[in-house]
Amino acid sequence: MSDRHITRRIRGTDTSDGAGVKLKRIIGQPGLDMLDPFLLLDEFRSDDAGDYIAGFPEHPHRGFETVTYMLAGHMQHGDNHGNRGDLTPGSVQWMTAGRGILHSEMPQQENGLMWGFQLWVNLPAKDKMTAPRYQDIGPEQIPVVHPAEGVEVKVIAGELAGATGPVEGIVTAPVYLDVSLQPGASLTLDLPTGHHGFVYVFEGESALVGGESLQRSELGVLSEGEQLQLRGGDKPSRLLVVAGKPLNESVARYGPFVMNTPEQIHEAIADFRAGKF
Ligand code: FE
Repeated sequence: MSDRHITRRIRGTDTSDGAGVKLKRIIGQPGLDMLDPFLLLDEFRSDDAGDYIAGFPEHPHRGFETVTYMLAGHMQHGDNHGNRGDLTPGSVQWMTAGRGILHSEMPQQENGLMWGFQLWVNLPAKDKMTAPRYQDIGPEQIPVVHPAEGVEVKVIAGELAGATGPVEGIVTAPVYLDVSLQPGASLTLDLPTGHHGFVYVFEGESALVGGESLQRSELGVLSEGEQLQLRGGDKPSRLLVVAGKPLNESVARYGPFVMNTPEQIHEAIADFRAGKF
C-alpha cells in the first residue's frame, strides 16, 4: 500500500458570486482551475449579513452536480421544477443538475454566522443530459464514526469504519468526509486507488496530512496512492477529505454550464434562453 502525500498547496481567493455573496474560491480559480472530477470549491463564512444576505437568486446549471454542505446558518433552496429544500446546519444537498435546472439558494436569516461549502462535481458525457436529481440529507442521516481515539468523522459519502455515507448513486464514486482531530490523534484512511483527492483544513490551526503540516484555509492536493495518514496538530482541527474518480474527458465551461465541447456550451445557452430548462 502506498501512502498519499501533498503535491500542491492552494489558498482560496476572495471573490463574490450570486447577488454579491462574499466567498473564498479554492478550486476553480487561476491557482487551481480544476481537480478532475472537481470543478469548483467555495467556502462561504461570514457573520456579517451584508456578506451573504443577497443570496443566489435564480440561476441555471447544466452538465454537473453541486454539493452544498452547511456548517452554520440556514439557506432555502428552490427550483423551477417545484423542488424545495431546507439547508440547515450539518445538512448536505447533492444536486445533480443534469440537463438543466433553474434554482435559487437564499439565506433564511438576517444576522448570525453563515458558513459552509459548495463543491461542483463533473458528470461524464453520457450523463450530462440526465434528469435532474436531488439528495437532500439532514444531519441525522449522516453517520458519525470514531475510528481511532480523538478522531470523529462524519461520513457524507463513501465508507469508513463500517459506516456508509447516505449519498448514493453518484457516477464519480465520491468520498466526502468531515474529519475532526484532537491534538496528536491519528487516523489512516483508505482512499480508492485512482481517485483524485484533496484535504482542506477549515477549523483549528493546522493538521498533519501525509506527514506534512497543512494550515487552516489551505487545500492540499493529494498524490496517487491508497492510504492517507492524518494527525491532529497542537489544537483541535477539522478537515474536509474529498476524493472522486477522474473522468479524463474534455471540459468546456462557461459560468454555470459545464460540458465537453464549445458547441454544447452554445446549445446550453440557447436552450436556457429558449426557456428549455
Ligand atoms: Fe446554484
